[in-house]
Amino acid sequence: MYGILALSLKTTNWCNLNCSHCREDSGRNVAREYMSVDKIEDYIIQFQELPLNLSNRITIDGGEPMLPYFKKDENYIPTALTLIAKAGAIPVIKTNGTWGRTYTDRNLILKSLAKNANFTGRAITLNMSVDEFHENISGVSNIIADVVFSDYLRSAIHIEISGFNTIGSIVAVARLRSDLKEKEITTIDSRNDDFVAYNNNGGGIHVSTNYLNDIYRLGRAQRNFLYTVKEIMPGCVNTIQLDNEDNAVLNHTVREQVNNRDLASVLDCLITSFNRKQK
Ligand code: SF4
Repeated sequence: MYGILALSLKTTNWCNLNCSHCREDSGRNVAREYMSVDKIEDYIIQFQELPLNLSNRITIDGGEPMLPYFKKDENYIPTALTLIAKAGAIPVIKTNGTWGRTYTDRNLILKSLAKNANFTGRAITLNMSVDEFHENISGVSNIIADVVFSDYLRSAIHIEISGFNTIGSIVAVARLRSDLKEKEITTIDSRNDDFVAYNNNGGGIHVSTNYLNDIYRLGRAQRNFLYTVKEIMPGCVNTIQLDNEDNAVLNHTVREQVNNRDLASVLDCLITSFNRKQK
């Protein structure tokens, strides 16, 4: 295995969407359960002790990881984010962003994230899929607009949009930018596919869309050419994903049950299987 290793905590399998392409075994028809905070803490500690080159990002993932907010468990995500920040890592939440469609959910979640960022001193990165597979443009656009128009949110929340780097995702990003324009937000091209979005008072944010060396961001689609190519390239970011059923998955490719073993030995097995698969 080359490159650095990132940790993704798949806190739940439940998702409010039921995407046909989903390779996370997630959707509406699974239990609305999520990983305990104790388990999150244990996995973060074990990850930080691995003798490898580790990414400074730790991702809360799903399914739809905002589930606890919908179950009135409003402390769960802030507690998880605080554990990540305390470990010295950048907290990232991978979400489909559909909660941005309603003001009530948006207001609850964005304020909660910003409060946490102020508490820990670590801005939170919201990573949202924008592509041909998710019907979420209005939610994502509302979230970006709220952040762009608020000094408070701008300093606390960073926005990334990830897709599968296909023509479909390029079209979806264009739709997103056109939606933002209707909200009186100007977008200007930045490097690669990134853009800057700013309000009529000049307050702006950088929206990152391109992070090609990160396998994880290249998505979950089985037929993603770039995904396959990046898996074998040196210098890329590898991801170990740990879920609530104690599965450990490396680069969406090889899987091990944790079975009360420590993470270092689980990872050894995963790397061996992964390397065998690459030959
Ligand atoms: S691809 Fe993402 S949004 Fe779609 S069902 Fe899977 S986890 Fe949910």
